[in-house]
Amino acid sequence: MSLIVQKFGGSSVADKDRVLNVARRVVQTYKEGNSVVVVVSAQGDTTDDLLEKAAEITSNPSKRELDMLLASGEQISISLLAMAIKTLGVNAISLLGWQAGFSTDEIHGAARIRKVKADRIKQELEKDNIVIVAGFQGINKYDDLTTLGRGGSDTSAVAIAAALRADRCQIFTDVEGVYTADPRKVKNAIKLKEITYDEMLELATLGAQVLNNRSVEMAKKYSVELEVLSSLVEAPGTIVREETTVEKMLIRGVTKDTDVARISIIGLPDTPGIAFKVFSKLAQKNINVDIILQSVGRDGTKDITFTVSRENSAQAEQAIKSLSSCKDSQVVIDENVAKVSLVGAGMETHPATASRMFEALYSADVNIQMISTSEIKISVLIEKEAADKAVKAIHNAFFD
Ligand code: ADP
Ligand code: ASP
Ligand code: MG
Repeated sequence: MSLIVQKFGGSSVADKDRVLNVARRVVQTYKEGNSVVVVVSAQGDTTDDLLEKAAEITSNPSKRELDMLLASGEQISISLLAMAIKTLGVNAISLLGWQAGFSTDEIHGAARIRKVKADRIKQELEKDNIVIVAGFQGINKYDDLTTLGRGGSDTSAVAIAAALRADRCQIFTDVEGVYTADPRKVKNAIKLKEITYDEMLELATLGAQVLNNRSVEMAKKYSVELEVLSSLVEAPGTIVREETTVEKMLIRGVTKDTDVARISIIGLPDTPGIAFKVFSKLAQKNINVDIILQSVGRDGTKDITFTVSRENSAQAEQAIKSLSSCKDSQVVIDENVAKVSLVGAGMETHPATASRMFEALYSADVNIQMISTSEIKISVLIEKEAADKAVKAIHNAFFD
């Protein structure tokens, strides 16, 4: 008998038929002789709808109250799934995050899981229940509800798998696995049999929504092997693990992130310590900075350009303008940009990878604004409208 954690995303439980479908799949796993813990997200677009409801009241809702609101989405899906499983003659119980033992830090809207005290889950499994846990939520030290950030149910599933030392952690979604590009946008994208944690972490961080990046980080930390597969089609999915058994692939995937803003500070004094002052100010405000470019100083001034996520751009601008060293410079923000990235652990030993990527962009007539590289990825910043075209062109250059 194995202990299996199965997570179903919002589209997999979007309506009555999908809930019944998930119930059947879960019961099938249970009837094969396994203990099953299920993590579910809110149905379909529920989380977006709740955000809209809040926006109708105020443009600046209290983060605590927003978490109170958003956490309700998952409460609906866990209870409906438990009811559906019971109609199939199997015992099931739904648990909210706090009932399942999820404690988090205090950051509303982006809470980190501190601990999963899984005693209640274990008790319910011993009573022969299928245990259904609300993803995306926990409770902080003040006993207030917290949420983990968008896509956070993946992380809830991995945390339970780690806490219970589960034999398997399956992430069911609306595509058949992790592909070389978003299969909804790139028709000839290829399903990967396996991918390493590091490659998946890059893909997820750089825009491939199929797995939340924190869930991959946690899976790597606790050596939880993940299987990403379809809730609708019975087919082998993708395994995410430390090492893949096949030879390192040169490129594992192409992805885009449109949640980016480019900020340029023009006419900074060309003196030591300027970059330190700018980026330490941004760090103080908890603003993550990505690609950074600094021009060579000329006539006593220089420019610094970098990218942040769009939601942080206004705050970043304010922070920069508050610096005395920036008082004579101009801050320019461009949100009409996208980051397109190529990811693969094999690229470090293939120096021609970058030129092949740039050639593909040139052939597609896409202008590159900024470039950044690491051992396993190359990212370019381009105009937002060109993002899909760029992903296709790069994908064709490496996979056609
Ligand atoms: P869930 O609701 O199950 O959590 P998400 O919508 O968060 O599902 O993630 C699944 C979606 O991720 C797919 O529908 C697909 O369009 C998108 N996606 C983006 N990049 C990739 C990729 N490289 N491989 C697979 N899916 C991807
Ligand atoms: N319901 C949450 C969201 O839409 C969490 C999740 O789906 O993982 O982001
Ligand atoms: Mg998701």
